[in-house]
Amino acid sequence: MYDYIVVGCGFAGAVIAERIATQLDKTVLVMDRRGHLGGNCYDYRDDNGIIVHKYGPHLFHTENRDVFDYLTNFTHWQAYQHKVLASIDGQKVPIPFNFNTIDMLFPADKAKTLRDKLTTGYGEGAKVPILELKRSDDADMQELADYVYNKVFVNYTAKQWGMKPEDMDGAVTARVPVFVGRDDRYFNDTYQAVPKYGYSEIFGRMLEHNNIRIMLNTAFRDVMNITEDGFTLFGSEFTGKVIYTGSIDELFGYRFGDLPYRSVDMRFETLDMEYFQDTGTVNYPNEHEYTRITEFKRIHPAVTDKTTILKEYPMPHQRDKNIPYYPVFTEENRKRYDEYVGLAEKYKNLILLGRLAEYKYYDMDDIVERALEVFDTEIR
Ligand SMILES: Cc1cc2nc3c(=O)[nH]c(=O)nc-3n(C[C@H](O)[C@H](O)[C@H](O)COP(=O)(O)OP(=O)(O)OC[C@H]3O[C@@H](n4cnc5c(N)ncnc54)[C@H](O)[C@@H]3O)c2cc1C
Repeated sequence: MYDYIVVGCGFAGAVIAERIATQLDKTVLVMDRRGHLGGNCYDYRDDNGIIVHKYGPHLFHTENRDVFDYLTNFTHWQAYQHKVLASIDGQKVPIPFNFNTIDMLFPADKAKTLRDKLTTGYGEGAKVPILELKRSDDADMQELADYVYNKVFVNYTAKQWGMKPEDMDGAVTARVPVFVGRDDRYFNDTYQAVPKYGYSEIFGRMLEHNNIRIMLNTAFRDVMNITEDGFTLFGSEFTGKVIYTGSIDELFGYRFGDLPYRSVDMRFETLDMEYFQDTGTVNYPNEHEYTRITEFKRIHPAVTDKTTILKEYPMPHQRDKNIPYYPVFTEENRKRYDEYVGLAEKYKNLILLGRLAEYKYYDMDDIVERALEVFDTEIR
């Protein structure tokens, strides 16, 4: 028997299992329905030796020194600053929208006016939400806000979330910022890097411990059950703690209905050329069914005359047919989630953790931070 069970082996499950094994010297069974560790952060070398991220591009960035130091125990980093271009009116321009973008899209005198007004009105280095620009008394600032909204965000977001542009909540999109300056980086965090040998290596190293047993290709229901009385493992009662990082609606047999997600069809292509595009990711707000193309050689350098790209086609999530990626936040869905949480609270040995169990979007650094915190407050 094991002291703890961890269901799911993304960052949430892996961090908890590693802490239990190394800090408490207790035994832990880790299971995942997939045939690999790493959850959505899983990567591998493809036939051309290029590291690709199976579930979409993952760029590590954080302000949290503790999280960065913790992960440094399991990987060598390679410095990487993500840059994104967007295809607008036939040009590839930097986003977040900044002075360089303005210079490429507007005539020189107009661009200078916009830059000057942004600097005077908001200060160098400010990130100004387009809603704020829209509220300005200045016609140029309002025009810039409308331009960014229409050309860069509205169609992209509509595609991503499967909505008609006219049905979109303008207030959400209006939070999108214009950067007052020429910094083209997608993230501004202090620590930005990718694992030199890929994310999968981190998980292998985290879980290599005598106290940890791993069962892959094993879903919760294959070996466990949850009843009114508690959990069973291989048919016997299990009274140790269960850290569950899968979908909460699945755990409870969808009894209050499915929690909706958006999914993405990830289509990889190998191309017979050295490089396909100038940056890691190019967004396509206005053309094509896909939202963006990522070129992995730009993220993990590789010596080969071929290149691998990924096109992302957003789609609705269908249970058991595709992967739930992004929770769809509505009042109704939040209430449904709370009903499941009410049910979960009856199980004193159950801990819900991670993007699926908490029905929440977490970046990697956020989920590592949260898992370390849960270990300290609820397990240690
Ligand atoms: C397209 C995309 C791009 C992203 N890019 C970035 C980025 O650039 N930077 C960043 O910081 N973050 C990024 N993220 C977020 C990142 O993927 C998450 O922070 C991270 O995956 C969360 O880890 P997790 O352990 O909660 O979930 P997951 O990684 O999803 O792990 C959950 C695991 O549980 C398993 N599981 C589920 N149910 C069961 C069950 N019943 N039985 C057994 N196993 C089960 C699943 O198979 C899965 O392996 C991105 C996310 C997406 C969707």
